[in-house]
Amino acid sequence: MSNLKKADWSGLSVMKIPFAEISVISQRYTLGDVIFDTSKESFDLDGGIQFDCSLSRKSDVRVQLQGRMQARVRLVCDRCLQDFSVDLDTSVWMIFEVTETGKWPDGEIDLKPEDLDVVMLTEPVIDLVEAARQQVYMELPMQHICHKSCKGLCPQCGVNRNHTACSCEEIASDNPFAVLAALKR
Ligand SMILES: [Zn+2]
Ligand SMILES: [Zn+2]
Repeated sequence: MSNLKKADWSGLSVMKIPFAEISVISQRYTLGDVIFDTSKESFDLDGGIQFDCSLSRKSDVRVQLQGRMQARVRLVCDRCLQDFSVDLDTSVWMIFEVTETGKWPDGEIDLKPEDLDVVMLTEPVIDLVEAARQQVYMELPMQHICHKSCKGLCPQCGVNRNHTACSCEEIASDNPFAVLAALKR
């Protein structure tokens, strides 16, 4: 742990590890309470991310990461637009590979399943905070729904149907076309 460059800028976590500091034998890095700026993300962090990983160098241009990430993220429900929390707890498996362009070389567009978690880099430096951020995105549910039974907002008057019953609802369900439309969704 002594060779880690850890800076703390206004509470944000920075953890960058050059390939040259990573040995062939796997080394363990335990990051507690990783926080990053989520102002441009589709989620917010509810507390810091716990990121426990082992790095091992496979070649001059290739490093493997294996570990576990735990995070509590806040999302906005697609139906009722209220915030809710999701607990993520996942194993992480990534390969970091350096290429000149930071992209897949031409002619290697056939992705194998094991290549899906390959992160292409232009510089031989692993940003573990960025890796944690990418892993959060991989684990986010496709649909952001606060609860399976969330009734959402009334499309007519806009009330949150989880908290308030409105009279529009009856009119809609009496209409056979509305029922048909709901079935087709
Ligand atoms: Zn909801
Ligand atoms: Zn209504």
